[in-house]
Amino acid sequence: MTGTGSAAAVAEQFRFFAAEVVGSRRLGPTMVRIALGGAGLDGFASGGRDQSFSLFLPHPGQEEPVLPVEAGADWFAGWRALDESVRAVMRSYTVRSQRRLPDGGTELDVDFALHGDTGPASRWAARAEPGDRVLLLGPAVEDNRSVGFRPPAGTRTVLLVADETALPAAAAILEWLPADVTVQAFLQVPHAEDIQDLPTRAVGETRWLVGTDLLVGAVRAATLPGDDDGGDKEGGVKDGGDARQARDEVYAWLAGEAGTVRALRRHLVGERGLDRRRIEFSGYWRRGASEEDLRSEALAAHGSGATEGA
Ligand SMILES: Cc1cc2nc3c(=O)[nH]c(=O)nc-3n(C[C@H](O)[C@H](O)[C@H](O)COP(=O)(O)OP(=O)(O)OC[C@H]3O[C@@H](n4cnc5c(N)ncnc54)[C@H](O)[C@@H]3O)c2cc1C
Repeated sequence: MTGTGSAAAVAEQFRFFAAEVVGSRRLGPTMVRIALGGAGLDGFASGGRDQSFSLFLPHPGQEEPVLPVEAGADWFAGWRALDESVRAVMRSYTVRSQRRLPDGGTELDVDFALHGDTGPASRWAARAEPGDRVLLLGPAVEDNRSVGFRPPAGTRTVLLVADETALPAAAAILEWLPADVTVQAFLQVPHAEDIQDLPTRAVGETRWLVGTDLLVGAVRAATLPGDDDGGDKEGGVKDGGDARQARDEVYAWLAGEAGTVRALRRHLVGERGLDRRRIEFSGYWRRGASEEDLRSEALAAHGSGATEGA
């Protein structure tokens, strides 16, 4: 995620919000949209685009998620010290949209990709009902470091590549884009009925890929600004200053399964000559590993597994 500010400023960007489910709607075979609301959400300030937050869920049979919110900055150590079967399930999700209500309150839509009952978040989302209680660690200011999509000045083409877990972020990015950029979006969903209508002011093309493991092949075959249209896509930028400039006006945002994202980034930097500083990438999940496993890995490697400003 892109950083904005010192450690103290970052800590001020996030806080806990209590919320409850106020609605649930299936968008297709894979996606369910959960609306969250309640007075506890007052002050939540989504920055739009790929705004993410940490979601804390109860285990089956619990009334509410168990989390030592009162521990303040030490909440993460307190949470880790609790038994795994008791402490809240902690997962990362994206704000698909935030609504301001006439009474001054606010509601969030969060789109969950369902992948069966192996994941507690997927399991929860499939059964969520109005009144179900959750906690969020999310933004208290719109300009916060959990917004990663930040195209540099001079960007003319945005390349968006996402699987179904990153579809909510890609959709919100498309909504946010101004009319003077061109977008090339590659969006993968498991079923044709998962395809959504995604409004944007940007010109360009959205390509839907139905199935799994299709994103790398599609991007490899794509013509990017600076390519010789009839030429070899893996030959990097075609000769000439104009082509280089066109390539340098591309900004790529890649999110989804971690192995796929890694392969996409390697291709774009190594074979297509994109400047690595013009690529924002994020593994949203990894095949065969729960978010819990990924957090343990991060803790072992860096001593920190907390998310969202903790
Ligand atoms: C910044 C960020 C934003 C995200 N935003 C969203 C969002 O808005 N919507 C959304 O749906 N997801 C989003 N994700 C991804 C989501 O956090 C993961 O898919 C998460 O693993 C789901 O938790 P779980 O409890 O269902 O499964 P886990 O307990 O974490 O995993 C259980 C098993 O399921 C597998 N698995 C996890 N996700 C999938 C999947 N989608 N398809 C197939 N197998 C899977 C894992 O590899 C593991 O084997 C986001 C992730 C990040 C990092």
